[in-house]
Amino acid sequence: MASVNIGILGAAGRMGCALRAEIAKHEDTKLVAALVAPGTEMLGTDAGGVKFTSDIRAALEICDVLIDFSSPKVAIDAALMMFGTPCKVLVTGTTGYSATEEKALVQAAKAITLVKSGNFSIGICVLENLVTKAAAALPNDWDADILDIHHNQKKDAPSGTALMLGRALATGGQNIDPSEFASLRHGGVIGEHSVFLGSDMETITLTHTALDRAVFAKGALTAALWAVGQDKGLYDMQDVLGL
Ligand code: NAD
Repeated sequence: MASVNIGILGAAGRMGCALRAEIAKHEDTKLVAALVAPGTEMLGTDAGGVKFTSDIRAALEICDVLIDFSSPKVAIDAALMMFGTPCKVLVTGTTGYSATEEKALVQAAKAITLVKSGNFSIGICVLENLVTKAAAALPNDWDADILDIHHNQKKDAPSGTALMLGRALATGGQNIDPSEFASLRHGGVIGEHSVFLGSDMETITLTHTALDRAVFAKGALTAALWAVGQDKGLYDMQDVLGL
């Protein structure tokens, strides 16, 4: 397989670092652009075979896929910029998109291949399906709540994953309102999600714990390799894994 040229948006962040480490280990991928915010002090320094840059347009001339772990506005600007460049594949793991920003991504996916997931781990994909199955099997007078625990630098709450799990409950017929999401921001926790289902007499708790950020980086890389050659459109990790 020819090497897939990858650009990372947010290359110096927590996820950007984990992704650079994964790309370096993967024989079918090559890091060709490491994008950081304009004005950042590491601009021009070594990012692992390439220099950190903030020139997204130039990066899109040489990437097959852009993987984004930055912020909603930065990701949407990059998606729109793709229209006039050879790179037409965006994998975005950024969370915290507003409803308007979600619509902008849906629009962008009419012209590019876009994989979007608030959580690239296979465990969360499986958990989503279990949650839908449990919600569908239980009487709808059961109570449903979702807790997410993350490190204290995380910007959005509830997390993108918690919202995904909320949609999984709704798919199974258990609607959950905003007061039934709880978020704890604590120390260096990478990510823990629990879905609680309960009646007056019993409870079920379904929990996923991420032990290493590499799980998200590996998943994003799997999504990137899958997305090359796919038709334009909006996809998620369930599509990538065929679950
Ligand atoms: P982070 O703050 O460590 O990294 C984000 C980086 O983006 C920062 O280094 C910031 O300087 C950079 N950035 C800002 N503007 C930029 C620009 N114009 N060009 C290039 N880079 C720019 O955050 P993080 O922990 O790495 O998380 C990033 C995002 O990914 C968050 O939204 C987080 O919730 C999400 N996340 C998703 C998954 C998943 O599996 N989908 C997993 C972990 C985190």
